[in-house]
Amino acid sequence: MAYDDQNIFAQILAGKIPCKEVYKDEHVLAFHDIQPQAPVHVLFLPRGAYESSQDFYASASPGEITALARAVAAVAERLGVVKGGYRLISNHRHYAGQEVPHFHIHLLGGAPLGPMTSGK
Ligand code: 5GP
Repeated sequence: MAYDDQNIFAQILAGKIPCKEVYKDEHVLAFHDIQPQAPVHVLFLPRGAYESSQDFYASASPGEITALARAVAAVAERLGVVKGGYRLISNHRHYAGQEVPHFHIHLLGGAPLGPMTSGK
């Protein structure tokens, strides 16, 4: 499937739509989710045009992959969720409910998060 360069996160990355930025570097942008599902809910995006986790982890450079992982750890530390615990989620396509077709990792924390899935 071709990457949709008009998706909402591509527009945020291009500076066309604002976000509440938490972290940025040459490979990564992180910002608060617009509809937080926990007291801390941050989204981490690679700047590259990757549709989902499958695409990113199979094709991205080691530098891009490392940058994303290190950004998650640094932001988790800065936002104070390391001690209490946090959850990382990446939704790949429709069974997982991916809404925005630009790869992103959700970081959720700041309170007990409940079961990992609906269990159905
Ligand atoms: P997905 O279902 O693709 O894994 O998650 C997409 C996430 O992006 C959702 O949690 C949704 O609330 C968030 N989101 C969608 N549009 C925007 C936006 O314009 N700004 C921000 N900050 N978050 C958004």
